Amino acid sequence: MTQLQLPLFPTDTFKSIIKRIRRPAPQSPPDQLSNRALKDVWLRLRKRYFPGRPDIDEYQVVWSRRAQKRTLASCNIESKRVTVARELNYKEHFIWLEPLLFHEMCHAYLEDRISGKNGKIAWHGKEFKALEKLHPGSRRLDQWIKKGGWSSAVRSDRAKRAHIKRKLLTVR
Ligand SMILES: [Zn+2]
Repeated sequence: MTQLQLPLFPTDTFKSIIKRIRRPAPQSPPDQLSNRALKDVWLRLRKRYFPGRPDIDEYQVVWSRRAQKRTLASCNIESKRVTVARELNYKEHFIWLEPLLFHEMCHAYLEDRISGKNGKIAWHGKEFKALEKLHPGSRRLDQWIKKGGWSSAVRSDRAKRAHIKRKLLTVR
């Protein structure tokens, strides 16, 4: 016989399929930190390293909405906003958050009062480097980037997101 027959689902399987369809689709990888958690790290660092600058607490600290390729984090001193690459929102990269946020905090601390040669702003000049050294993790973060840590974090994030997307497509 050539007729296509519907398979008989055992009730349990059917129920689990329904459950999977109804479950809200996970848009991002699980166990990620919130913006609030980032801000908490920021506040802790500020109290410890710049006790005389409570104004730095006003900064907004958020994960990037877009995928990043070159920018691990950025600091906008005008809008008082720090953005961290969402590629780093995985447990194995949380150790870099402190030194990374500290780097951005040094920008927030110095603002544009750092002139270098020819009156240009030396964002990463001598004064900045000296300040950045205050955090014990700064050197290790630098080495991690140089050894390709960031590039592999980007690849790993892309792979994880592609996997989630494939899973969602299968369920639908
Ligand atoms: Zn910088």
